[in-house]
Amino acid sequence: MKTINDFSFENKKALIRVDFNVPLDENFEVTDDTRIQAAKPSIIKILEDGGSAVLMSHLGRPKGVQDEFSLRHIVEKTSEVLGIQVKFVADCIGAEAETAVTDLQPGEVILLENLRFHAEETAGDQEFAKQLSKLGDIYVNDAFGTAHRAHASTAIIAQFFPDQKCFGNLLAKEIESIDKVLSSGEKPVTAILGGSKVSSKITIIENILDKVDHLIIGGGMTYTFIKAKGGQVGDSICEDDKQELALDILKKAEEKGVQIHLPVDVIGADAFDNEANTDVIDVDMIPNGWQGLDAGPKTLENFHEVIMKSKTILWNGPLGVFEMENFAKGTIALGHSIAKATENGAFSLVGGGDSVAAVKQFGFGDKVSYVSTGGGAMLESLEGKTLPGIAAVANS
Ligand code: AMP
Repeated sequence: MKTINDFSFENKKALIRVDFNVPLDENFEVTDDTRIQAAKPSIIKILEDGGSAVLMSHLGRPKGVQDEFSLRHIVEKTSEVLGIQVKFVADCIGAEAETAVTDLQPGEVILLENLRFHAEETAGDQEFAKQLSKLGDIYVNDAFGTAHRAHASTAIIAQFFPDQKCFGNLLAKEIESIDKVLSSGEKPVTAILGGSKVSSKITIIENILDKVDHLIIGGGMTYTFIKAKGGQVGDSICEDDKQELALDILKKAEEKGVQIHLPVDVIGADAFDNEANTDVIDVDMIPNGWQGLDAGPKTLENFHEVIMKSKTILWNGPLGVFEMENFAKGTIALGHSIAKATENGAFSLVGGGDSVAAVKQFGFGDKVSYVSTGGGAMLESLEGKTLPGIAAVANS
């Protein structure tokens, strides 16, 4: 795996696929520049080498050219983050872009217009990728958020840079973190899977049963397992058609020597409402009219114990309906446990959708080892899939 640290960019033009798909407000101001900040280290390394950078990204899902999705809106913010004035080209391919790149001097940065203004980008069009490839000497992929897509700029383009292609720091860190959890991490390895449904996590569960020592199951998924084992789950979220599957997972885990930890008690509520009446209830004795919306105190103690003896930790999905304050305590407590284990030397990766939102919301972002930047890409990695954007650069 080659990264930008394996190249000197002196007098080279780096064509970098970044993920600048940032949120904009009604005045087209960037409301969260995390993704731009995340790409900064790679860009700065290239400039400090004496090279220049041509940045390409998508923004939103435009249908053809739509001004509201123009990357022009983020030129100022990108300039501010990088500390230099970034130039802008109003099309990502063609004569204007090629001339701008020819004129580009070491230390300068160009941002190209939205890749998705051309339908050929998401179609993974060869000719479009070839046009893009004219805009740099070395191709750098630093966009994990789109690494699971075989788009022109994320995967197809790599063939036009047989030896001159590499990962940026951000993407390299993502690959490294996933690798730690799935293959090279110190044991015991623990995965915590929460969220709403077994059906959306099944492929991940099946893949990680071969990789982990402990699997903690929480959130709405719990109740399908508990009901399958003969428990009473009341009105809790439950996928009746997945009960067989749940039993099969438990059996496979036992065969593979994976210890599964399910909640033993829950915060039950008499409505799906922050103001509902609540009670601590045994997980398998939830009466009708009640539903489990968060992990209970005994459960949190059990989970804490498992986490504290783990050396490698993966967290995906909340333990309860964390969007409601009264059912966020389990997710917050879990975050504290993972932060403590990390402080004691464990490696912890938080990835995929809602758990990332939860760590940010509750301020655990800098207390875990790594928070993934790519939702779908992370989930597909955990499912064991080869991501096209990674394969295209990794295969020389
Ligand atoms: P996912 O996208 O599958 O990771 O699921 C995340 C969602 O699961 C969040 O919106 C949570 O509110 C929801 N969730 C977690 N625990 C429960 C529960 N016990 N009952 C209903 N929804 C839950």
